[in-house]
Amino acid sequence: MAGYFKDLYLGVTTVIAGMQVTFRHLFEKNITIQYPRVVKEMYPRARARLVNTISECECCYKCQRICPVNIFTITGIRAGKDEDLGMLPSGKPKQMHILEFDIDFSKCVYCGLCVDVCETKSLHWEAPQEVCTFTRGEMKISFADMPEEEKQRLLKQEAEKKAARAAAAAAKAAAGGAKPGAKPVPKKPVVKKDEGENAAEEKTE
Ligand code: SF4
Ligand code: SF4
Repeated sequence: MAGYFKDLYLGVTTVIAGMQVTFRHLFEKNITIQYPRVVKEMYPRARARLVNTISECECCYKCQRICPVNIFTITGIRAGKDEDLGMLPSGKPKQMHILEFDIDFSKCVYCGLCVDVCETKSLHWEAPQEVCTFTRGEMKISFADMPEEEKQRLLKQEAEKKAARAAAAAAKAAAGGAKPGAKPVPKKPVVKKDEGENAAEEKTE
């Protein structure tokens, strides 16, 4: 009987102690928010999302080369000598057309190496209010703003230039090979190391 009352006493006092903790926090200010209906503002220096200000990017590919997870897709075409693409913040003339500049944030490890290596500071961190997406595909973000027709025009122009360069190089090589009176250069016999050593041994014997 004594044990029964002891258990009863312990049960009631434990519930009262627990309820005291609950009531202590019941009227305090909430520390949780009703996400996603309410979204907390990010701290301004948060490494939340990379942003590239494309007008300030010189398309040097340094960010792509240093990224340990290789999540940049950059396509640039050098501008012609007579083209004026404006100036970079450094005062240098912009020399590259940027056709593609994508970052796949689903693979980013937020190391910040790409930002450190960017000399123009066009690549930087921003803290948007909401960075979550519903699909992985939405995490691949494009920063290049070139219209599709312009992109196709530049690609075609570049392909033509490359073909012309290749044709000129082939013509030059053909012209060089068919030079009248040119003596054929004798090929050096290839002697394998072992063969050379054996020959030397035979000679000494
Ligand atoms: S923060 Fe690191 S992992 Fe993310 S894009 Fe930059 S270099 Fe790549
Ligand atoms: S390092 Fe900076 S300037 Fe160079 S391609 Fe990347 S974002 Fe552009």
